Amino acid sequence: MNLVKANKESITKASQIIKTGGLVAFPTETVYGLGADALNPLAVAKIFEVKKRPSFNPLIIHIAEKDWLNEFTIYNDERINLIINKFWPGPLTLVLEKKNSVPNIVTSGNPTVAVRMPNHPVALELIKQSETPIAAPSANKFGHLSPTTAKHVHKYLGEKVDLILDGGKSDVGVESTIVHYDNGNFYLLRFGGVTKEELEEVIGEIKLKPHNAKNPNSPGQLPFHYSPNTPLYFFDEKLLSPKKKIGVIFFQNKKVDFEFNIEKFLSLSGDLREAASNLFLFLHELEKENLDYILIEPVEEKGLGKAIMDRLRKATFKHTIPNH
Ligand code: AMP
Ligand code: MG
Repeated sequence: MNLVKANKESITKASQIIKTGGLVAFPTETVYGLGADALNPLAVAKIFEVKKRPSFNPLIIHIAEKDWLNEFTIYNDERINLIINKFWPGPLTLVLEKKNSVPNIVTSGNPTVAVRMPNHPVALELIKQSETPIAAPSANKFGHLSPTTAKHVHKYLGEKVDLILDGGKSDVGVESTIVHYDNGNFYLLRFGGVTKEELEEVIGEIKLKPHNAKNPNSPGQLPFHYSPNTPLYFFDEKLLSPKKKIGVIFFQNKKVDFEFNIEKFLSLSGDLREAASNLFLFLHELEKENLDYILIEPVEEKGLGKAIMDRLRKATFKHTIPNH
């Protein structure tokens, strides 16, 4: 049985699991989270695998002390400090420019990362002992309600998590408020445990993100999807023109008789978890190479392959196939 009462011993055991790349479900004041070491891309890929999400979405990283924010984000505005001093620990998530230390799979390729310090003694102790931020979405399967008890988590995820820490009922039960800081402005991305008015008392006006084609979100939804600036197409031999600078991302070890400018392999052993953990990283790397286009080999749509293909369909969609 992987469900245990949260106490000194079980929290220490849980932190060992986090440190060695495993998954731990733990209580926060909002809902139960499904956590992994946020700095370990393979561990983060497991979260998506277990949640069976049909697509990737960026995850919130949970920290144990306010100071940790500086290690993972870049900002220069006193108002951010006002916010964290007033609302942390608590149900308030800040989206800020990320440092390189945050893996791309955590942010789904976005240049920003969402961070919060939860107000729950079990969560804080677990993160502290793990000595790393913990990336955690709600501990339920896609399409189910967010769990507010350890029993719910067990019902949804069973033995697929290495350990479930039972710390009683989450008392807020609603998710965290999400605020995005961008170029001197604050935008509310999701309503949650802290109200807009409470925030405005501390930092003045907060805007709602304008709706437009690139940003069709209402609060609670993704503010944006990352896709590379270089055109991206599914691999097709017809696109192999010697006049073009082409980068390719193969799933496994594929041999094609063509001089690519750059060639990458998501997972030589064909492991979808490894492939997921490399996907956004490779897209970013190839985007910097001044290529005419990037080709990517489709993966099999099972397990994490579904989420990978969903993301790739969206990222390839905006580029129509060139004439040649
Ligand atoms: P939760 O459902 O509480 O785990 O929060 C996850 C949500 O936080 C995502 O679905 C996004 O709406 C939001 N989020 C996380 N990271 C980012 C980010 N880098 N930029 C914008 N929104 C984010
Ligand atoms: Mg959720």
